[in-house]
Amino acid sequence: MTLSGVDVEDDVLDFYFGDNVSPGGYLWVFPKGKDTANVGLGLAVEEAKKKSAIKYLHEFVEKKFPKAAMLTHIAGGVPCAKTCDEIVKENVILVGDAAHQVNPVSGGGIISGMIGGMIGGQVAAEAIQMDKISHLSEYDKRWHKRLGWRHDVFYNIKTAISYFDDKTLDNICDSALRLPEEKRTLGGIFRTALWNQPSMLIDVARVFVS
Ligand SMILES: Cc1cc2nc3c(=O)[nH]c(=O)nc-3n(C[C@H](O)[C@H](O)[C@H](O)COP(=O)(O)OP(=O)(O)OC[C@H]3O[C@@H](n4cnc5c(N)ncnc54)[C@H](O)[C@@H]3O)c2cc1C
Repeated sequence: MTLSGVDVEDDVLDFYFGDNVSPGGYLWVFPKGKDTANVGLGLAVEEAKKKSAIKYLHEFVEKKFPKAAMLTHIAGGVPCAKTCDEIVKENVILVGDAAHQVNPVSGGGIISGMIGGMIGGQVAAEAIQMDKISHLSEYDKRWHKRLGWRHDVFYNIKTAISYFDDKTLDNICDSALRLPEEKRTLGGIFRTALWNQPSMLIDVARVFVS
C-alpha cells in the first residue's frame, strides 16, 4: 500500500523479517518522496492460510505508522518457485510470472520477467527468419543459461532459510553487519552465516542434497 504521513528517510530501504511480521517472507518500506512510502509484505502461502497478509500489514502499520493515511493498495500472488518445467511448447512460449521466472528469494519478477521476454522475443524473431518453429526450444536453453540456473540455486537457498528461526536470522544479520558494505551480497551473507553458524550446514545440506 502507498501511505502518506510516514516518517521515512529518502534514501533508505527498510526490510523486516520474522515470525511476527511476515513468516516465510519479508516486509518492506520503500520511500516514495516526502512523507510517502510503499509499505508491503510477502509471506509464504501456507502462513497466509493461518493469518492473512493484510492482517499482518495492518498490524505493522498501526504500530509503526499510526498517523499514516492509505492512498492506494494492491495485492497479488507471486510464484516464488523454480522456473516451470516446460516454458516452450510447439508455437507457444511462456514468460514472466506465467513461466515462474520470479527470483524465488526476493519475489522480484519485473527485471527477470523482462529478461525472459527479451530472450523469448529474440528467439521468436529468429524462428520466423529461419521459418522453423522448432527453433523456439532455444528459448528454454537460453533462459536457463542466463538466469534459470541461478533461480534453481536461489530456490534451494530460500528453502534452507525457511528452516531458520528468528534467533538464527538475528545472528545472520549481526554477521552481515560486520561485513564491509561491498561484500553484503546474497552470496557473501550466506557464506558468512555458514562460517559463523556451522550448525546451519545441516539444514543447507538437507536441501541441496535432496
Ligand atoms: C504486491 C506486489 C508487489 C510486487 N513488488 C515487486 C517489486 O517491488 N519488484 C519486482 O521486481 N517485482 C515485484 N512484484 C512481482 C512483479 O509484479 C511480477 O513478477 C511481474 O509484474 C510479472 O510480470 P508479468 O508481465 O509476467 O505479469 P503481470 O505483470 O501480471 O502482467 C500480466 C498482464 O496480463 C494481463 N492479462 C491477464 N489475463 C489476460 C487475458 N486473458 N487477456 C489479456 N490480458 C490478460 C493482466 O491484466 C496483466 O496486465 C510484486 C508483485 C506483487 C503482487
